[in-house]
Amino acid sequence: MNFAQLKHPNLIKQACYVNGQWLTADNHVEVFNPANDEVLGQIPWLGKEQITQAIDAAEVAFKQSPHSDWPSRCQQLMRWHQLILNHKTDLAQIICLEQGKPIPEAEAEIDYAASFLRWFAEYRQFDCGDTLASPLANKQFHTQHAPVGVVAIITPWNFPAAMMLRKAAAALAAGCTVVIKASELTPFTANAIVELAHQAGFAPGVMNIVSGDAALIGRHFCQHPAIKKLSFTGSTRVGKLLMAQSAEQLQRLSLELGGNAPFVVFEDADLDAAVSGLIASKLRNNGQTCVASNRIYLASSIAHTFTQKLLTRLNALTSGAGWQAGVDCGPLINRQAKNKLQTWLDDSITMGAECIFTQSKLPQGGNFFPITVLNQVTDDMPVAQHELFGPVIALQTFKDEQQAIERANLTDAGLAAYCYSLNIQRCHRLSQALEYGMIGINEGIISAAVSPFGGVMASGFGREGSQLGLTEYQYVKSICYGLS
Ligand code: NAP
Repeated sequence: MNFAQLKHPNLIKQACYVNGQWLTADNHVEVFNPANDEVLGQIPWLGKEQITQAIDAAEVAFKQSPHSDWPSRCQQLMRWHQLILNHKTDLAQIICLEQGKPIPEAEAEIDYAASFLRWFAEYRQFDCGDTLASPLANKQFHTQHAPVGVVAIITPWNFPAAMMLRKAAAALAAGCTVVIKASELTPFTANAIVELAHQAGFAPGVMNIVSGDAALIGRHFCQHPAIKKLSFTGSTRVGKLLMAQSAEQLQRLSLELGGNAPFVVFEDADLDAAVSGLIASKLRNNGQTCVASNRIYLASSIAHTFTQKLLTRLNALTSGAGWQAGVDCGPLINRQAKNKLQTWLDDSITMGAECIFTQSKLPQGGNFFPITVLNQVTDDMPVAQHELFGPVIALQTFKDEQQAIERANLTDAGLAAYCYSLNIQRCHRLSQALEYGMIGINEGIISAAVSPFGGVMASGFGREGSQLGLTEYQYVKSICYGLS
């Protein structure tokens, strides 16, 4: 499969979108298909001047936007939503080609991504300030919600549609304008979605997308006075760097960073449901999700039975190019990701982990990695310490609930956690004791537009989706009317 097979090949833009125009540059960088390392195309490597042009365009558009006319903005969001769904097949193929996930997963990503446009377009009508009960006879107090201004958005490669729309939908519904920087590994999905925004009729400057040197763009976003908010999804390392850089201007920040999710199975769990939940949370996108289960804790009494059931299910899975029918897992994003995972796996085996399963048939070429199961893992091994971002399943055992909670909390990456038990009192205790922004109880797929997405500690701060997602792009004005 390649881009020439799309129904609408004009969705492929090897350009940046600035002030309503697709622009190119003198320098370019190539984009590769992770399933076979073939070159898919190239995108421009913009200089500082062109990035400034995009920010300036967003600033002018913000000043010209009638913020009170939120119904028109929401109609545009709904038109964009419909266009994205109408082009789902093409968009899913683009994701599959540049990111690697199987077509059904790529289609599910498009549905999930588009759901944020609908959610924020519909929710916007209920967002209003308050009239406060005044304690003073001669004063009345009100609040208004105002858009923060120009928003810079930086997104990773693992969900190139969803990570962008989770932010852009909220920012635009709030009345902001945006400048987006997608990952250079997966720019074509973002560009295709921006082309559909163009078709949906957003005014020039409301939405802009740039590409180029990530460090330069990040610094420039943090230094430009027009940028009032930076919303970043990616690694904790880059999140910390951006936070330090943005301090100079005191920019508002949302940081959606890395995870290291525990998946805890108790002796009173439905083991078949727990195996299904683990496969869903661990192997979606071949393990390359921030909420992927990373440390699997099994009650000693059910560890053997659970492991046998897991291996039976894993034996039936197929890895391959995402466009082939019947494929469950695609490739990793690139060779560096593959090498990093292999090193953590090897080092953990040297420290005493036992490899009890390695997927046998893998396609030749590309960045495929076998689904692998390790037993006898301990919390000090690299496979438990690092966010693996790949199909390595690291099994540990625990003796009681208190130990399970203590070990599940042994990380500062407080993004997501999972637990399986049919004891409702235990589930409630766990929901209180686990120090994470999101908890799946007897469920492995936990995200929806209605529910706040985000972490604590080294997983960052801010929430996407839900009512809270909109407040990330607004500030509250308090107004006091003197009545005497
Ligand atoms: P990354 O290396 O931090 O990159 C994320 C984005 O930041 C990319 O667009 C990247 O650009 C850009 N970037 C890199 N260096 C930068 C710099 N110095 N200044 C500004 N921007 C910079 O992360 P990744 O490897 O793409 O993504 C995987 C990470 O994202 C994992 O840790 C995962 O858990 C996390 N993640 C978190 C969430 C969440 O909601 N919490 C969701 C998804 C992923 P280039 O790619 O062009 O270099």
